[in-house]
Amino acid sequence: MPSSSSPSRAAVAVFTRDLRVHDNPVLAAAAASSDGRVVPLFVLDGGILPRISPTRRRFLEESLADLDAGLRRLGGRLVLRSGDVVAEVCRIAHEADAAEVHMACDVTAYAHERQDALASALRAQGAELHLHDQVHTIQPPGDLRPGDRDHFSVFTPYWRRWAEIPLRPPATAPHLSVPDIAGQELPIPADAERAGGLRGGETQGRKRAEQWLDKTVEEYEGIHDDLAADATSKLSPYLHFGCLSATELAARAGRDHPGSGAEAFLRQLCWRDFHHQVLAARPDAPHTDLRPRGPWRDDPEALAAWSEGRTGIPIVDAGMRQLAAEGWMHNRARLITASFLTKTLGIDWRPGAVHFAHHLLDADVANNVLNWQWVAGTGMDTRPNRVLNPLRQAARYDPAGEYVRRYVPELADVADPGHVHEPWRLGESALKERDYPAPIVEVGGGKVGKRVDEPGEALF
Ligand code: FAD
Repeated sequence: MPSSSSPSRAAVAVFTRDLRVHDNPVLAAAAASSDGRVVPLFVLDGGILPRISPTRRRFLEESLADLDAGLRRLGGRLVLRSGDVVAEVCRIAHEADAAEVHMACDVTAYAHERQDALASALRAQGAELHLHDQVHTIQPPGDLRPGDRDHFSVFTPYWRRWAEIPLRPPATAPHLSVPDIAGQELPIPADAERAGGLRGGETQGRKRAEQWLDKTVEEYEGIHDDLAADATSKLSPYLHFGCLSATELAARAGRDHPGSGAEAFLRQLCWRDFHHQVLAARPDAPHTDLRPRGPWRDDPEALAAWSEGRTGIPIVDAGMRQLAAEGWMHNRARLITASFLTKTLGIDWRPGAVHFAHHLLDADVANNVLNWQWVAGTGMDTRPNRVLNPLRQAARYDPAGEYVRRYVPELADVADPGHVHEPWRLGESALKERDYPAPIVEVGGGKVGKRVDEPGEALF
């Protein structure tokens, strides 16, 4: 503890994708090291901003506004800068005469480079970078290891170990006083479509989590795959931007004594940790197959039909159109559309992952890339050759055809679920009248992977 006779030097708390004041170890540690004299800083990263979609940008801006409000309730405020993160953090540390800078560590190659560059730049000006590894995930990536390997490559043993490790205690939101440091005006949230009706920020995230845990989590196991019900938590954007602490969410879901619905939900949170620990060990995963496969087919037309939701396979088109319209796609539809691209059409998962990353509100390098690799059979799936037949998936997870009718207006008035999922059975002229395409690939009769325009050519 600092003595009352020697006033502490200020510290800088750099927010990255931990945009919250509750259970934020970065903010708590910065305050503890400086007697509460903290510069809470967010830098609009010039390397990342141009790459994010308008819906994500809006969510980020709403989250920053809410973070500022949360900090003000603690006696502080958010200092906002933009530009190069390393340069701006060093400048602020110098202006505030800060001895310590606190930040969450992250798992991408970009984050690693940024952390290393920041640590050495701060060192050169006499300050120290403190990285915190239990901010984004529940278990720090790299902490749980099977024997002498550096990460788990199979989920189930990871889950067993993960479920046994006690949760860290929550970090308390500190009282703050912010040195006289100038920042820029907070941006007014961009006028973009609101993805799936989700508004950014900690306040919204906590409200949504509260309602979810009170009312729905116990039903999760039975309904999470029902496409039309669309009844999953929709907490992923809040977890990605750190508006919610995954640790706090797990604790509130009763991690140590879960009901059966909560246990299924906790498993999903564990998948998130699992993918993060894989990416930490394999930072090349966004571009390298973890398990070689291929060769992939080069088919720009089929890729375009997939991206635009015009493959002629309604369940696939519904998912892709939900993504384009809402910046959101149900998990089951993500599995079906990704499997269709990679396993049925035989197209490389990388352009699919780029398309998802551009449109998804919850786009997250670890979760996106490693789920894509899982589906494509290049990743951690212990059954890499499994193929999801879109028709069987449709019959199982959208039995009444409601999900398809919602997102494919050309088929909205088709009453029979069999015809909604297989509209080619209505006949060629009915498809033409509706301006709905014939399937670009044959998926019937339990056979997948045969191009309609190349009869007999089995892709797999
Ligand atoms: P819920 O079912 O309520 O689950 C709760 C939380 O658990 C989620 O918010 C999420 O943080 C985590 N979770 C659930 N499923 C998974 C999973 N398979 N892998 C990792 N974490 C999971 N998730 C993202 O957050 N960002 C992505 O960019 C992303 N891309 C994906 C791409 C593909 C091809 C696939 C198949 C899945 C992808 N997912 C991604 C995982 C999953 O689809 C979403 O996390 C989930 O649909 C989000 O909805 P929810 O919050 O209602 O999830």
